[in-house]
Amino acid sequence: MKTVRFKDGGASLSVGKILCLGRNYPEHVKEMRAEAPPVPVVFLKPPTALLEQGGTIVTPPFSHVLHHEVEMVVVVGKEGKNISRETAMDYVAGYAVGLDMTLRDVQTDAKKKGLPWSVAKGFDTSAPLSDAVRRDAVPDPHMLNITLRVNGDLRQSSNTRNMIFSVPVIIAYLSSVFSLEAGDLIFTGTPEGVGPVTRGDTLTAELESVATLTVGVQ
Ligand code: MG
Repeated sequence: MKTVRFKDGGASLSVGKILCLGRNYPEHVKEMRAEAPPVPVVFLKPPTALLEQGGTIVTPPFSHVLHHEVEMVVVVGKEGKNISRETAMDYVAGYAVGLDMTLRDVQTDAKKKGLPWSVAKGFDTSAPLSDAVRRDAVPDPHMLNITLRVNGDLRQSSNTRNMIFSVPVIIAYLSSVFSLEAGDLIFTGTPEGVGPVTRGDTLTAELESVATLTVGVQ
């Protein structure tokens, strides 16, 4: 059973489903030569994709292009369905920083053929996740610097204010499709600057005042 831990005390939560947004930062939409979506683009990763702080990402042998995508992660704190935007923040237990590791060659091929992204996005170790902090410790989740460094070099740098869909809008939308449960995770999309990593690299993801996450690549 995979769990998400809280840095500031309190019980860990067993992780349920992992819901992920694509195309949630305008500059990333541009770099992918995609269109800004009218509603969130959603895909899932299985809980077995999670990787803890200090772990090692293992690239499956059939892929040769592993990309980093740093993302703010929302930890769901209670069950809900058809949640309104106005009450959405009541369902947030806390926040963490995560990496939506992506087999870009596999994803590009799937896109061309109109096939699902599950292999490109859901392989073991594709979801490195930091410990979380409680919602109350983050006054505004839409005003946080978010960065990703590879071997100390800055590769991604943005602020969560640039997200196309805010946390309440995301929760309202997702809960109209999927019942949310305590321990579900929401990866809220990556800013621009995604790119390849290779064996031996060290990735450091940081979400201002929330967490820092360091993992390796094998
Ligand atoms: Mg992503």
